[in-house]
Amino acid sequence: MRIAMIGTGYVGLVSGACFSEFGTNVVCVDKDETKINKLHENIMPIFEPGLDKLVENNVSGGRLEFTTDLKEAVQSADAVFIAVGTPTRRGDGHADLSYVYGAAKEIAEAMDGYTVVVTKSTVPVGTGDEVERIIRETRPDADFDVVSNPEFLREGSAIEDFMRPDRVVIGTESERAQEVMRQLYRPLFLIETPILFTQRRTSELIKYAANTFLAAKITFINEIADLCEEVGADVQAVSKGIGLDGRIGKKFLHAGPGYGGSCFPKDTLALVKTAQQYGRPLKIIETVVDVNEQRKKQMAEKVIKACGGSVDGKKIAVLGVAFKPNTDDMRDSPSLDIIPALQEAGASVAAFDPEAMGEAKEMLSGVDWKENSYDTMDNADALVLITEWNEFRMLDLDRVKGLLNAPVMVDLRNVYNRQEMKDAGFDYTCIGRPKLE
Ligand code: NAD
Repeated sequence: MRIAMIGTGYVGLVSGACFSEFGTNVVCVDKDETKINKLHENIMPIFEPGLDKLVENNVSGGRLEFTTDLKEAVQSADAVFIAVGTPTRRGDGHADLSYVYGAAKEIAEAMDGYTVVVTKSTVPVGTGDEVERIIRETRPDADFDVVSNPEFLREGSAIEDFMRPDRVVIGTESERAQEVMRQLYRPLFLIETPILFTQRRTSELIKYAANTFLAAKITFINEIADLCEEVGADVQAVSKGIGLDGRIGKKFLHAGPGYGGSCFPKDTLALVKTAQQYGRPLKIIETVVDVNEQRKKQMAEKVIKACGGSVDGKKIAVLGVAFKPNTDDMRDSPSLDIIPALQEAGASVAAFDPEAMGEAKEMLSGVDWKENSYDTMDNADALVLITEWNEFRMLDLDRVKGLLNAPVMVDLRNVYNRQEMKDAGFDYTCIGRPKLE
């Protein structure tokens, strides 16, 4: 089997490398020459744990290649995966499908022999129909099927997620295409991964339903956290108390600064738009989107309150700017709302992130970027933890206290123990856990 992966980003690169690890011959294609050049030198264009080794092994094993030449990669492929971006379209909140449709046209022009075109990008219901139409219009003679195969990996644990997924969803009614997909995912059949064959539209909707459900779960616990603060309850204990119920489950019940990242914000919005377009508004998800938007802004207020009601002229130290640990992805990170709001309120901000500063420098202005955690907090009036990287979980509290002008810590990820922080002499604010007096 030979496949082409169009788009060598977080999903395309990981999926391509993992398929090659399964024994398939993979060519990863990207328009971005810099990315492909880096990959030729075995430099990863993104940070994802374990990816460099996986890529290196499979390149040297002759199963994984990188190119900017889509035509050649597609011509010899049994299956072509579309893994390009589907960001929010400017102005209206719908998913921008121009990259998907652009790729479909290029694939159509290059196809040779029966080809399964697989949409791995997250795309609104009905996109597969349009991809099929574009290919048919461009190449009336082509022999092909269009399949939906949404990706559920999470950045930061992407390889493990791809290699041991909870399930694989494949949307096609063509038996010929099903057989190709079965072959590609054979190693997962062997470890008894549930493989769900559905209609194409159903498969497209499963991806959005999954992401919006998870976003709703996070938003739910965030609102419960706010209530906990008012009534003197502890959200972590509430999460545990409800999460042990098998019907609820304990994952995605960590209160925090609001969801961010490259998927939840754009996918919740896109599903809201699809539902409105079909005249069946999803009120729950509309509310989730609103509540989450407001929440990111409220986090700056929380910091200001912790600083005694004003940050004007103060120096705030920020640890972590990526939307979650173990990634360099900054897309829709809560830090992009929190830091500018603090600056607007008159604060100067120093910040450190182990992997995301390269990206962050392009997106945040006026920040004093530091080399490590302790340099960041030197002479600061408050310390704010936005992303829970492991290295921020075990700070030397005495040293922190010695470096800060005032022992004010705002922990937006509930990493620290309230009693320990109190004993160490900190004025400690967290999420959904009342202050210990
Ligand atoms: P990304 O922006 O990291 O990568 C997309 C890549 O596609 C870019 O490198 C771009 O240069 C390339 N590209 C665009 N058009 C091209 C073309 N015609 N030919 C060749 N290359 C082209 O995006 P991503 O984060 O990997 O996401 C891809 C899709 O997967 C999105 O639909 C996203 O919603 C979905 N998804 C993402 C994640 C995640 O965690 N990032 C998880 C599941 C699903």
